[in-house]
Amino acid sequence: MAKVLVVADINQGVLKKSTAELLSKAKAIGAETAVVAIGRNIESLIPGLVDAGSDTQYVADDPALELFSAGPYASCVVEAAKQFGADLIWFGFSEGGKAVAPRVATQLDAACANEITALTLEGDQIEVIRPAITNKVIQRVKVNTDRLVAVIRAGAFEATEGITGSENVVKLSAPEPDSKAVIKELVSDASGDIDLADADIVISVGRGTKDQAGIDLVKELANDLKAGFGSSRAMVDAGLMPHNKQVGQTGKIVAPTLYIAIGISGAIQHLAGMNGSKVILAVNKDPEAPIFNVADYGIVGDLFEVVPVLREEIKKIRA
Ligand SMILES: Cc1cc2nc3c(=O)[nH]c(=O)nc-3n(C[C@H](O)[C@H](O)[C@H](O)COP(=O)(O)OP(=O)(O)OC[C@H]3O[C@@H](n4cnc5c(N)ncnc54)[C@H](O)[C@@H]3O)c2cc1C
Repeated sequence: MAKVLVVADINQGVLKKSTAELLSKAKAIGAETAVVAIGRNIESLIPGLVDAGSDTQYVADDPALELFSAGPYASCVVEAAKQFGADLIWFGFSEGGKAVAPRVATQLDAACANEITALTLEGDQIEVIRPAITNKVIQRVKVNTDRLVAVIRAGAFEATEGITGSENVVKLSAPEPDSKAVIKELVSDASGDIDLADADIVISVGRGTKDQAGIDLVKELANDLKAGFGSSRAMVDAGLMPHNKQVGQTGKIVAPTLYIAIGISGAIQHLAGMNGSKVILAVNKDPEAPIFNVADYGIVGDLFEVVPVLREEIKKIRA
């Protein structure tokens, strides 16, 4: 039986949904599952890790691990992988995961695959699928090592209802601090906005929204729907939206249940960040806009007229 170690994705003490998605996939392929949780004061997360489908929980809980640091975090994952005898080590799609995964792979002499969207296991043979070159090609990669460290793209796997694990906590001691890089402070998004990676609905604004008044109009729709609020790069370059909201090749990759693109043309670099969304709705006044090639639903019209109507209709449905 394959052994899958999932690296818990914890952000400011909160367990992100990717952890349950990866554990569900591990169970679906019939693997023995373990999770490694790293941070400070994270013991309260253990029941959630069990409910998400882990059979063993490796926990590195130490004040020295409060702030993310790739070196020590990698040491914790390597220690858990060795103790568990993991064949597959999976990270959710995050900046932290992307930084730690190669370090873990090097220390375990394992293969490393980034941004995978699918994985098959037949006997000992592992194969992964990953988009490359801005999603222009899909690679099917046969893995020739016994162990694979993989970063899984957001939304690639779904959390399954009714899955559960069993509690078997193994405490890991804190590793040596990283002498090469010392993280002094972590400055995080204090806006209180819903995290794009975790949002079920993401609404993004593009150049069509023109200015702050246009952004505010769409933001109200996002608030009504409790949606994450994203942006095209054009709005970021114009200084109208912060970079941490940018969706696309050089921004965030999101895969929500519903993605609503408002006043966005649908450049390939934007599509690279959102075309894994389950349902895409686009609002654009140009019927030839490329966004309509990927949209499941399209509204051709002026967003300044369409957005208030959408808000009214949503209010009516809710009432
Ligand atoms: C290396 C590289 C990396 C990049 N990375 C990214 C990235 O990560 N993310 C990203 O988004 N882009 C990225 N870009 C930029 C990308 O190529 C596009 O320039 C950008 O996505 C365009 O943003 P936009 O759709 O908001 O603007 P535009 O392309 O100008 O489109 C605006 C759209 O709004 C519509 N519109 C205008 N007025 C209205 C109205 N009143 N009502 C309804 N619709 C209206 C127009 O018809 C048009 O389709 C990258 C580019 C490069 C070269």
